[in-house]
Amino acid sequence: MGNKVIGRFAPSPTGLLHIGGARTALFAWLYSKSLGGDCFLRLEDTDTERSKQKYTDSIIASFKWMGIEFDQEPVYQSKNKDNHIERALQLVESDRAYYCECSSERLNKLREEQDKKGQKPKYDGKCRNLKLQRGDTSVIRFKNPESGSVAFNDLVRGEIEVSNKELDDLIIVRADGSPTYNLCVVIDDLDMNISHVIRGDDHINNTFRQINIFNALEEDHPVYGHVPMILGEDGKRMSKRHGAVNVLDYKESGVLPEALLNYIVRLGWSYGDQELFSLEELKKIFKDGKLNNSPASFSLEKLLWFNREYFLNLETEELLKKVISESTMFKSDDYSLAVVDLVKERCSLLSEFENEGSYFFEDNVKINSQDAERILNKEGLLILDYLNLVFREIKNWDVKNIKESINKTMEEKQVGMASVGKPLRLAITGRTNSASVDETCFVLGKERVLERLKKILDN
Ligand code: GLU
Repeated sequence: MGNKVIGRFAPSPTGLLHIGGARTALFAWLYSKSLGGDCFLRLEDTDTERSKQKYTDSIIASFKWMGIEFDQEPVYQSKNKDNHIERALQLVESDRAYYCECSSERLNKLREEQDKKGQKPKYDGKCRNLKLQRGDTSVIRFKNPESGSVAFNDLVRGEIEVSNKELDDLIIVRADGSPTYNLCVVIDDLDMNISHVIRGDDHINNTFRQINIFNALEEDHPVYGHVPMILGEDGKRMSKRHGAVNVLDYKESGVLPEALLNYIVRLGWSYGDQELFSLEELKKIFKDGKLNNSPASFSLEKLLWFNREYFLNLETEELLKKVISESTMFKSDDYSLAVVDLVKERCSLLSEFENEGSYFFEDNVKINSQDAERILNKEGLLILDYLNLVFREIKNWDVKNIKESINKTMEEKQVGMASVGKPLRLAITGRTNSASVDETCFVLGKERVLERLKKILDN
């Protein structure tokens, strides 16, 4: 192994990329990048029944959307099968693995007996020292050391150790000649020169087994870091109830990739009190932050907060481009730009801009009858009538002059802001809640505002 840090993310393409996987990948990638290293994507596609091309495509698309670029082309585990088998045979040769002919009947019985005695199921080593030759139904088992322990210094959890007695002589090649997960991972990590493995803590038990295989092959094992699970806010395993689970669902609903990245990097990693990070910054500082050892909890509300922060930090032109990609209502012109600028504070998702801005684009403002009765009563209509007159007088339609006209109406009619603002807002937007009414008037433009007032007053 050289000095260069080489990380990897190794998903099984048996499903879409979920938030937990994306977070693990991001940590593995940023860890390598912040140490000047590389990070590879390896698709662990040996389960031919459950692995699907569409999942591989979607995993790759998810990373592309998030801006995570792996070094070199993806590696497919299935393509390294010959090498997996060769290394297994090498282990048999060096007496660190053996052929086992125990039938499934025998193994089932053994398991039942162990179960009855309250023991952990474990192969009893019947074939371990028989030096059997390969038979039609034999598997290859790894000769796990019988004494001592396996220990490693985890990047997240510190020193971890397990007694070899707890570990089984696991099958590394099945009777049908296919290599199993723990063997494949070790061989691929070796072949790809992986120096650092960051993965979910559900793999800790595999790590002990894998370290024993590395030792048997007389190879150094990588440095490991096991990151805790992401849970829902209720402490339960993350599921649809807590928000979308798959990365691309967030794309669909109008979350910005920068915001999603920023949010998930904070699930189990911190850098002082800082909350907002750009990807470029993370690529430099990730190594200096702290990886957290307790499960992180996912909050949709917090993610939306991040998304809104990103909306507000973007140049409005950039934001408009993103809004246009989600909605045909907006166009690439100054009017749409002004609308987006005005309503962005009220949106947490790209998909909300259409609803939030719809009255800017619809000629017929819809007003529900209850609101009309309550707000466009006699007093309300008198106020609109007066506003209509003073607005007409405005030569230069800007926010300052609009405000002055509203103030003039308040003085003339001896009423407060609410008495003017409410009917005006309802008349021009059809809503009781919107961005500030003077700015809304300004963006709509004098003509539209007067038209909308006229429609109400004429009726
Ligand atoms: N393919 C495994 C999984 O998706 C990960 C293996 C690893 O990271 O070593 O859980």
